[in-house]
Amino acid sequence: MTIRVGEAAEAPSFQKAAFKLLDDAQLRKNVRHATDVISGKRAIVVKEQQDWQQLRATASAIKQHTLAHLDEYLLKFEAACTAAGGHVHWASDADEANRIIVDLVKQYGGKEVIKVKTMTSDEIGLNKAFEANGIHPHETDLADMIVQLGHDKPSHIVAPALHRNRQQVREIFMREMGLSELTDEPQDLTNAARQYLREKFLKVKIGFSGANYLLADTGGVCVVESEGNGRMCVTLPDILITLAGIEKIIPSFRDLEVFLQLLPRSATGERMNPYNSLWTGVHKGEGPQHFHVVLLDNGRTRILADPEARQTLHCIRCGACLNTCPVYRQTGGHAYGSIYSGPIGAIVTPQLFDMEHSQSLPYASSLCGACYEVCPVKINIPEVLIHLRGRIVREQQSGANIEAIGMKAMARVFSSGRRLEAAQRLGRLGQWPFVSEGWIKHLPGMLGNWTAVRDMRPLPKQSFRSWWREHEKEKKEGADG
Ligand code: SF4
Repeated sequence: MTIRVGEAAEAPSFQKAAFKLLDDAQLRKNVRHATDVISGKRAIVVKEQQDWQQLRATASAIKQHTLAHLDEYLLKFEAACTAAGGHVHWASDADEANRIIVDLVKQYGGKEVIKVKTMTSDEIGLNKAFEANGIHPHETDLADMIVQLGHDKPSHIVAPALHRNRQQVREIFMREMGLSELTDEPQDLTNAARQYLREKFLKVKIGFSGANYLLADTGGVCVVESEGNGRMCVTLPDILITLAGIEKIIPSFRDLEVFLQLLPRSATGERMNPYNSLWTGVHKGEGPQHFHVVLLDNGRTRILADPEARQTLHCIRCGACLNTCPVYRQTGGHAYGSIYSGPIGAIVTPQLFDMEHSQSLPYASSLCGACYEVCPVKINIPEVLIHLRGRIVREQQSGANIEAIGMKAMARVFSSGRRLEAAQRLGRLGQWPFVSEGWIKHLPGMLGNWTAVRDMRPLPKQSFRSWWREHEKEKKEGADG
């Protein structure tokens, strides 16, 4: 089985990557500005929604119920979609999904594909699979197009090019579109993108989309977006292929009422998405005449099997937790080494990878709880982070590991007052070569990991216990005297 989350397998640890990115002042400025703007808009439209907390609770309950009956709802969706003229394919992992999709494009004789923004296709590395088979994918979401033309990687789940500013976008467009003149005014940039894409919309015969929601009762698919490119991709081509994670299913059309209020407010600070596209199977003479849905597992059933982490699958990919996270706002998305960044990335990626390649991610959080407060489906991300940290520690303790041995020794010291005092006496003696102007700024060996990122105070001349003893003695002597 090949579980893939973008290129996370090759990525360095979060700490290493973040260290490097923190030096990029322009990137930090871009990320802070963009997340401030989105968070500000979100706060206004959430405040005006009187039943916001009830909506969150309802969405959470719908997700819990659906996951508890996931098998039934997926089969229901398959039956309804097939009855409406669609074809449903099941993919257990990234390789299988890529194979199915590439084969379908080849079967229809396609050499190009127009794509609506879909994180799931980034998760399985679909563009690479297309290119390896001589198929050219065109990203049509403006931000995804900037990332593709800039030979870059997405840094945010809703706004993948959030780390770029207008001047950088202008340079990319001029270089990749062969333009000799272009200003960095938003209207000029979007006009350039529109002209570049218009020809692709009219010419390319195969469309590709993700799904925000799969409706079990009707077999329908729903995609929401702000630019209209999605509407073009799902209506103009002859053939439409949709890739969706199995957690995207909701029981019925009526449930959309809840999610279509929560998602746009949380994602872009809009009351409603400008484009809500819904389609069911195929309709003669209208829209694509061939429709395929690929349902992807790629590690999701493994997450489902863990009752304490299962809530991870509630995510509707709104990005609100990223915008509010004090860690993400400093580092941006690339530090997470995965297409899923920020707090949700810190719990999704390690679980999809079964913790092998991403053990640093659950520590990429201050556990402040801001992500939980804004999450429209009430995912308790701090709770899952602590659960994952526990798993990592238990896995490490099962082997001979210096940190685990160190922790066991510390536990022995801290469990006895006498041992603690002896250790403090030794520490006081051993620390003096490292104390400078009242601070310890460098420690040798493994302890240097601590002082690499923070200074510490030396142990005081007298411990509290010894002060207390002296104090009590003086009191007693005073009373006796
Ligand atoms: S975890 Fe919640 S806040 Fe974060 S992206 Fe998912 S739904 Fe949005």
